[in-house]
Order: sequence, then structure tokens, then C-alpha cells
Amino acid sequence: MPDPNGFLRYERQLPKRRPVPVRIQDWHEVYPPAGEELIRDQATRCMDCGIPFCHEGCPLGNRIPDWNDLVRTGAWAAAAESLHATNNFPEFTGRLCPAPCEAACVLGIGDDPVTIKQVEVEIANHAFDLGYVQPQVPATRSGKSVAVVGSGPAGLAAAQQLARAGHAVTVFERDDRIGGLLRYGIPDFKIEKHVVDARLAQLVAEGVEFQTGVHVGLDVTADDLRDRFDAVLLACGALAGRDTTETPGRDLAGVHLAMEHLVPANRVVAGLQQSTPIDAAGKHVIIIGGGDTGADCLGVAHRQGAASVVQLDQYPLPPEARAAEQHPWPTWPVILRNYPAHEEGGERVFGVAVQEFVDDGEGAVKAIRIANVMVERRDGRRVVTVDEESRRDLRADLVLLAIGFEGTEDSPLLAQFGVTRNPRGALDAAGNWQTSAEGVFVAGDMHRGASLVVWAIAEGRAAASAIHTYLGSHGDLPAPVAPSSQPLAAAR
Ligand SMILES: Cc1cc2nc3c(=O)[nH]c(=O)nc-3n(C[C@H](O)[C@H](O)[C@H](O)COP(=O)(O)OP(=O)(O)OC[C@H]3O[C@@H](n4cnc5c(N)ncnc54)[C@H](O)[C@@H]3O)c2cc1C
Ligand code: SF4
Repeated sequence: MPDPNGFLRYERQLPKRRPVPVRIQDWHEVYPPAGEELIRDQATRCMDCGIPFCHEGCPLGNRIPDWNDLVRTGAWAAAAESLHATNNFPEFTGRLCPAPCEAACVLGIGDDPVTIKQVEVEIANHAFDLGYVQPQVPATRSGKSVAVVGSGPAGLAAAQQLARAGHAVTVFERDDRIGGLLRYGIPDFKIEKHVVDARLAQLVAEGVEFQTGVHVGLDVTADDLRDRFDAVLLACGALAGRDTTETPGRDLAGVHLAMEHLVPANRVVAGLQQSTPIDAAGKHVIIIGGGDTGADCLGVAHRQGAASVVQLDQYPLPPEARAAEQHPWPTWPVILRNYPAHEEGGERVFGVAVQEFVDDGEGAVKAIRIANVMVERRDGRRVVTVDEESRRDLRADLVLLAIGFEGTEDSPLLAQFGVTRNPRGALDAAGNWQTSAEGVFVAGDMHRGASLVVWAIAEGRAAASAIHTYLGSHGDLPAPVAPSSQPLAAAR
């Protein structure tokens, strides 16, 4: 029986982030582990609601009140089992998720919500530390085989589900290491890579075969996969970076897409290369884009030793709390998001857009010309009005474009499988996650467009369930979402 007064006795509290001057000297995670007492007190705040809206916020359908209460009583093994029942990789979401469950938490109506994400990561950490994460090897084999293309969280979740159901699973990854954006996109200060490796060891022990350095469409063809496997899951992500090719000066040296900066930075941290061609050390850095990717560039730039960093956002400064005209609880509020990287330094400028990259006379960027803008939606279209009077220059030696993604890349794989991208740059799926090609399924960002780790895992699990059925296997696997599922905010 949960403690009915827990939220009255304890205030919301997170473990203290490591001090800024210390943490920007290294690449370790920003948050240290929480003390046992702190996390039990925080779990005690959960009211075990009759209708737990936190479930609605989470695409995985995590059994949040159940594991909150198990943590409250110190039943870590049972908490780990409950958590893993709906989420293959809680150590990823516990570190990375923006936690729509917390936005939907009932306690959040009149108080601060439960620290659901922190409880999640602590359960996951305990599970690894105490040896509860063991391979779940199937007792019988189905005799069927599945190729998974792409080793991000969507491909990995599907691979694990299918392998545990007895299918022979091979994951093909064009990079030299497994993990997708968890490996080479997201910096170590958000998720250290030993966390990814620890989970991969479980998948290997469960029989998942990994082939790295294999670009499907180039090194092996769609026909090869069709010949060798009974079904194929495409989980190639949405890695086509949005560019600003129309802007004068875009081709100057020193102007790069965010991923051109983040990927080699991660490889340096991993010891796979000595240096990066795009190093912020000693430079005046401008990041264009106010979202997650921009915040990751900010944290990396500070750790590389940037002289200054300015992050630009074309939208106006959002409110600090949910504004009256926004959809109410439990939807996702549009508020100012302060990531740990923002407290490490730099300046944020809102309501501006780049008009030109200014040449230093030798083919490199020396400044960017910006102007105040107003972004509106008129007749469903996005209209940007520029205040010409407000044009001004900001010094820049390095400009990083973190303005989003345009869907999955145009790769030979698409034509070989006979599938095409929709206007969002993603692949459409029927209700059973199958693309227009027989026996070829899709999940994660490649289906949804650039999204979140939690959605990638949820889609991977659901697509695995559909593939299991397609292969004529007995029983059902969990399918937490449908291809048409939308986040709570958009469902209203
Ligand atoms: C910089 C950055 C930071 C982010 N931070 C967060 C965060 O903090 N929290 C959060 O929830 N989400 C975050 N996201 C989003 C999240 O990482 C993605 O939504 C998630 O990784 C999508 O998973 P996926 O498996 O669909 O694809 P991905 O993780 O993109 O993996 C796709 C994989 O497919 C491989 N591949 C592609 N084509 C082929 C081919 N033809 N053959 C073989 N392999 C191929 C790619 O190399 C890649 O490894 C971030 C994204 C970025 C870019
Ligand atoms: S909505 Fe919040 S308080 Fe209610 S069960 Fe979920 S986590 Fe606990």
C-alpha cells in the first residue's frame, strides 16, 4: 500500500549535478548516482493514482506507480522486473528521456511531479549493479530469421524482442560500432558509452548477431537480405540533416551541420581518433537552433574549450511555466527548456534568424548576420517575417547548424526494397508496421521522423510484435504503440 502522505512530507528533489567547473573538464555524465535514501523518498511521493496519467504520457506504457512503490519499500529486484516488463532499455530512457510521463503526472497539477525518470534510472543502475540483468535465452527456436537494418534504439529493441521469441536475428549497422545516435550522436555527458555496451552484452548473450561496417544497399543488397531472411526490419533513423543552403555564404569554411561536429567529437572521446576536424577550441561558436541537438553542441563546444558560444533560436523566448492559452495538463507544455549544458555557459538569443554568413575575405566565416524575426502559422503554412532594421553581425569562427532533420536519408536501400519516402521524409507503415514492400517492416525515426529514444524503443517493440505474427509464430509479443500513435500533446 503506497504512502498516501509521501508527497506532503517530501519535496521533489534531484541529485545535485556535478559542479560546472569540474564537469566541463571531462566528458562524464552530468548527474552522479542518487543516494539510496533520496531516491526512496522521491518514489514515496507517488500517489499510486487510480487513473495514473503518467501511463498516458509514456509511449511504452511503463508501470510507473508499481515500480515507484517497489522502490519505496526497497524491493529493487521486483522493481527491475516490473520496469523491464515494458522497457528493454530503461538505462537509456532514464538518462535521456524528456519524460512526458512527468508532464502527465497527476501530482503535477498542484505540486511538482514525481521524479519518475530519476527513479527509472536508479532502478536500471541497481539492476546492472546487483546482477539482475541476465540474458533471457529462448527455450525453443522458431527456425525463422529476421534482418534488422540499423542499430539505434528502435533496431535494438526489436532485435531483443525477436531473439527472445526464438527467432534468429542479425543486425546490420554501417557504422563501426553499434548503438545509432546513442553511440555517435548523443555526447557522453548525457550517456556514457559503457552504459550502451553493458546492454549490448546482454543482446549478444541472447543470440543477436551484429554485423558492423555493413551498409545495406551498398555492401549487401535488398535481394541478399530477402534471400537470406524471412523478414526485414528497416530502422535506419532520420539522419538527413536540415540545411540552410539558400542562405548566402553557406559554403564558407567553418559552417557545418551539427552532426559533423558531434560524431567526430564522440569518436575522440571513445579513443577511436586523436582529434576532430571540427574543434571548437579557442573559437567563437554560433549554434543555430534552440533544441536538444543545439544543447548537445553547446556542451561539446564548452568541453572542447570554445572562446564563446551563442545559441540562436528563431522562436520567441517561451514562458517559464505553462501559459494559459496552451493545452492544459496532462499535455506536454511549451516552456523554456534549460538543459544542464545551458548552466555551463554561453548566451541564448531568441526570435532571430540568420540572414547571411559573412566572408573573412579568404573563404572562411568571420561573422553571421542575423535579424529579429516573427514566425507565424497562416493557413497551415509557416510564415517568417524579418525585421530588416534589426540586422546585426555576431562574431563567428565556427557555425553549427542544429535546425533539425528532414527524415531518413536517400539511400540505395530504398530503391532496392521498392519503398519511397513520404513528404515528411519518412517511410509509411500499414497498421502492422509493414512498408509497401512485402515482408519489409519499419520502426523508429525512419517511420516517425526525428523523435525520441522512448518512441524508438516503443516502435521497435511494436514492430517486433508484428513481425512475430507475420512469421506465423505462436503467442503475442507486447505492442505498446500503433503506427498512428501520437504523443499525448498532439492527441487532443
Ligand atoms: C544530437 C542528438 C541528441 C539527441 N538527444 C536525445 C535525447 O536526449 N533524448 C531522446 O529521447 N532523444 C534524443 N535524440 C533523438 C534520438 O536519438 C532518436 O530519436 C533515436 O536515436 C532514434 O532511434 P532509431 O533507432 O530510430 O535511429 P538511430 O538512432 O538514428 O539509428 C539508426 C542507425 O541506422 C544506421 N543505418 C542507416 N542506414 C543504414 C544502412 N543502409 N545500412 C546499415 N545501417 C544503416 C545508422 O548508421 C544508425 O546507426 C537525439 C538526437 C540527436 C541527433
Ligand atoms: S501520475 Fe504521478 S503520482 Fe500518479 S501514479 Fe503516476 S507517477 Fe504516481
